[in-house]
Amino acid sequence: DNQPDSVRRVLLKLSGEAFGGGSVGVDVAVVRRIAKEIHVAVQQGVQVAIVVGGGNFFRGAELSQAGIERSRGDYMGMLGTVMNCLALQDFLEQAGQATRVQTAITMGQVAEPYIPLKAIRHLEKNRVVIFGAGAGLPYFSTDTVSIQRALEIHCTEVLMGKNGVDGVYTADPRKDQHAQMFTQLSYNRALVDNLAVMDASALSMARDNEMPIRVFGLEEDGNVTRTLMGEKLGTLVCS
Ligand code: UDP
Repeated sequence: DNQPDSVRRVLLKLSGEAFGGGSVGVDVAVVRRIAKEIHVAVQQGVQVAIVVGGGNFFRGAELSQAGIERSRGDYMGMLGTVMNCLALQDFLEQAGQATRVQTAITMGQVAEPYIPLKAIRHLEKNRVVIFGAGAGLPYFSTDTVSIQRALEIHCTEVLMGKNGVDGVYTADPRKDQHAQMFTQLSYNRALVDNLAVMDASALSMARDNEMPIRVFGLEEDGNVTRTLMGEKLGTLVCS
């Protein structure tokens, strides 16, 4: 089941924030555009697996601040990711792209369960596979899950699509006009300097297993296709 050298297989992480277009719910124009861009890359022969976040619906940590027990809030967060998966699946299918959703919490009417070998078969048949419900475990994030899924289904790279930033900076570019974007950055520097790329568990899992991560901006037209095709946009986090 290891991928042949000639085939590019990548894991695309899409933040929930992007799906919501900055508010709660799904911004269909955004999801439609991202779906079209993914389809273009798959037509060029790239195998694409996707992990979708859920921050446009719920985040467990925020719900717990508001008084909901943390684990239950996390499950709400995971269920939110599934709605994003279905929206993305719909626009992919509308674009002519065969797509399967696999969830870490079983919900047979809506999606397949997460079965790694089956996911690989889908990819080999040029189907997009979208992983929903995170890891199915409270206290995890979809960032961490994207590293884990990429490792398990033998992707060569994790591509983290972000909203509002186009890479990793020395400081927050929205607050500091002297902030500079890294083209490359080590896992350790990202961890030690706490550079707000992704959570520490995701970074340390990527470091321990040498999974390269490219952080790029989703908003610009064409960026999703370009990154999927292997263009070096944004910041590469690696050893
Ligand atoms: N979540 C979880 N376990 C997982 C993945 C997600 O508990 O394996 C919950 C967690 O509460 C998280 C929410 O689902 O805040 C939404 O996911 P995330 O915040 O990673 O989405 P994103 O920030 O990418 O939109």
